[in-house]
Amino acid sequence: MSDSRMNEHIPKKGPVVTRIAPSPTGVLHVGTLRTALFNYLYAKKYGGKFLLRIEDTDKGRSTKAFEQDILEGLEWAGLKFDGKIIRQSQRNDIYAKYIKKLIDDGNAYISKESKKNHPKERIEVVRLKNPNKKITFIDLVRGDITFDTTELKDFVIARSVTEPLYHLAVVIDDHDMNVTHVIRGEDHISNTPRQILIHEALGFKIPKYGHLPLILNENRSKLSKRDDAASVTSYKDKYLPEALINYLALLGWNPGTDQEIFSLLELIEAFEISDVQRGGAIFNEEKLKSINHEYIKKLSEKIWNKIVLENLPKIITSHKSFDNTLLQNIAGQLKERVKTFEEIRKLSKSGELNFYVRAPEYNSSDLVPKRDSDSSIKQHLETLILLLGKISEDKFTEINIKEAVWDYAEKEGKGSILWPMRFALTGLEKSPDPFTVSGILGKSTTLERLKSAYQSL
Ligand code: GLU
Repeated sequence: MSDSRMNEHIPKKGPVVTRIAPSPTGVLHVGTLRTALFNYLYAKKYGGKFLLRIEDTDKGRSTKAFEQDILEGLEWAGLKFDGKIIRQSQRNDIYAKYIKKLIDDGNAYISKESKKNHPKERIEVVRLKNPNKKITFIDLVRGDITFDTTELKDFVIARSVTEPLYHLAVVIDDHDMNVTHVIRGEDHISNTPRQILIHEALGFKIPKYGHLPLILNENRSKLSKRDDAASVTSYKDKYLPEALINYLALLGWNPGTDQEIFSLLELIEAFEISDVQRGGAIFNEEKLKSINHEYIKKLSEKIWNKIVLENLPKIITSHKSFDNTLLQNIAGQLKERVKTFEEIRKLSKSGELNFYVRAPEYNSSDLVPKRDSDSSIKQHLETLILLLGKISEDKFTEINIKEAVWDYAEKEGKGSILWPMRFALTGLEKSPDPFTVSGILGKSTTLERLKSAYQSL
């Protein structure tokens, strides 16, 4: 598309109004959250409004609990909508008025038919008089899209003169809400010609349409609504909302630079709907994790400590030695190490954090690196106890501990000194380095554990 046509979507006058229109027939899906985000960004970029409409006409499948989940998800993500919530279930009188107008104007008619699968039952549905023509619209993402509407025949727009079907309700609502831009998933492209025909039949101004690429799993299958991992709620106890939003923005939109970390305000600034890709966008949880890690690293100590506290198990937090300083130390370690809150819980569960409050249990033979003998390690532990014993309690910090041990370790071989030292303190194959751990545990606990290692050999 040429630049001038690409720019046609930018409103010359009048405000931009976008909307998100979820059906409360399921929990908030990440795909819906991404659609909400793009609508939000577009509206805010042009100083417009972002509205919320709950499409709850399917009485059998819509529930208040799902609606609540959707509202909470949007709020958690920080996408504030403007104005009041519009609920389709409260608009039946309005729909009936428009159905009557369509019939009165000769653009729709009542059709007496037998019910599908029940040939004896007669019903009266409302069908649109299809002008049978070619429709072209400029999709904000995909460019020109042309449809021949003939194949749609005189499609049904209402179940009765008071009950609109989906397409009719959407058109009436978008008109009444003054929606200027309909930005939604690609799965709605085939709905657009029907909706344009209804807009025309009602004499409404046709909004601009933009269809976003589908979100795909790594195996390129569609991320299904039924997929558990697709519910926004399942991210709340693992990720920061800012990180999920940042990641979702990159899911289909390309800023055209190397920048990856964007606050919501920066997204509003940088977002261009013409930079949205057409092909499916693959959901890559590793990428989301690494973005989340960037956000974790930027958190204030206070907020991060609180998150860590919420995710540590009772076995640690209710221990008598657990206090604010220890929390701060553990949190400081985890800030570098974990990318999601779930990883804190996993580390705790596997016992990898227990050494902070409890003496480790291990086989004494594991204290001894392969090329060393029990007696030489016993000797090294003795020296370590002496060296560390010389540091006064109030100077027992990571830096001072390192300084006290370093020359000796270099002389004797680092593996022979640092491995038994670290293992005696943690009992783990992998953990933070022995200086950090000693500093966190403090002088008396560190010496206690080194002594018990010494005695075990
Ligand atoms: N209720 C539709 C959905 O949840 C959205 C309709 C629209 O955006 O036009 O997919």
